[in-house]
Amino acid sequence: RAKELGGGRVEVFAPHMHADVVRRLELGSDLQRALAEEQFAVEFQPVVDLQTSRVTGVEALLRWWRGNESVPPEEFIGPAEESGLMVPLGDWVLREACREVARWRRDAWDIGLSVNFTARQIGAPRFVESVAAALEETGLPPQALTLEVREEVLVEDAGQNVARLSALRDLGVRLAIDDFGTGYASLAYLGQLPVDIIKIDPSFVAGLGSDETLTLLTRTIVRLGRDLGLTVVAEGIERPEQLELLRAMDCPRGQGFLVARPMAAPRVESLVRTNLRTQGLPGEVPLPLP
Ligand code: C2E
Ligand code: MG
Ligand code: MG
Ligand code: MG
Repeated sequence: RAKELGGGRVEVFAPHMHADVVRRLELGSDLQRALAEEQFAVEFQPVVDLQTSRVTGVEALLRWWRGNESVPPEEFIGPAEESGLMVPLGDWVLREACREVARWRRDAWDIGLSVNFTARQIGAPRFVESVAAALEETGLPPQALTLEVREEVLVEDAGQNVARLSALRDLGVRLAIDDFGTGYASLAYLGQLPVDIIKIDPSFVAGLGSDETLTLLTRTIVRLGRDLGLTVVAEGIERPEQLELLRAMDCPRGQGFLVARPMAAPRVESLVRTNLRTQGLPGEVPLPLP
């Protein structure tokens, strides 16, 4: 009888469930299995100095290989957070990436590493300790690590998040605002936040040369960053004219498919080795940009 009631309840409830909710629940249990079966991988996208084309660092990007399709992070990070998996998963990404970059640095390749963090990851108990431990265990110097957070992280519940990020910054870790220009961070506030780098959202870069307002806004962000003593990275560079305009604006750094796509560690290594053969100098690894 109870079973009948229970079954009945599910039947009544199911039609009201939004397809998205069902999908999220399914994703949640798939993710649990994915972690156990090691279906996750870290890719690295090079970031270059736009004046010299030298690779200054790489951004770690999480990949989920479900069968032979790659599930976009934007689809599974939300569900991973809801099922409590994002913290262990994020910790795994950080360690994998730190280990790889520490190894490259031992080969005298002077590059930095950026890793993305959500508000929930930063709010997790022992967040500061876990980042410090990852650095300690992999031998990556704190100065070589940048944490990327979106504007909301510093505005919502700012007190605790800012305090935690400041504690890491005291160790030498750098802080970047990701997707800059799309969130709510007020300009007045920006000068007071413990920030080192701003990453211009691709939606601005996309309009470079074709949209007057977006071009003006990009130029303004580049200048703002410079005036505040911050490093500016333009994200989503896909076309040569975007690269040209960013160079003309004196935007210090860039990242995008035109520069280099996210790639697995061995590909980054072979890219570097090829460049080392032709250029000779370790630590000076230019990409053949137009
Ligand atoms: P993001 O941190 O802003 O990362 C940049 C995204 O832009 C990446 O997408 C990258 O593949 C993509 N991208 C780079 N260059 C271009 C370009 O020229 N054109 C276009 N159209 N796209 C470009 P991806 O890897 O799908 O990641 C999406 C977002 O997922 C990231 O945005 C980040 O917010 C989040 N994410 C990825 N990995 C992690 C992770 O390990 N932890 C956390 N918390 N979030 C992550
Ligand atoms: Mg990022
Ligand atoms: Mg971004
Ligand atoms: Mg983004």
